[in-house]
Amino acid sequence: MTEYPVNCPFCWETFNFLLDPDQGSDRVTVDCEICCRAVAVTVQVDLQTGTVSVSADRESD
Ligand SMILES: [Zn+2]
Repeated sequence: MTEYPVNCPFCWETFNFLLDPDQGSDRVTVDCEICCRAVAVTVQVDLQTGTVSVSADRESD
């Protein structure tokens, strides 16, 4: 597991998100550690280069 920084779309603070990059691309909902709101985190893994990009959006519900 590796920690990746996530920029919260609600409070704009950065918190760390634990992820296993071997699982590939994924979309998960995590609670912001600062404001506790639900953040939809999209993980994109390039399996050829091992590059991981993490982006965060407001949960749309
Ligand atoms: Zn937040």
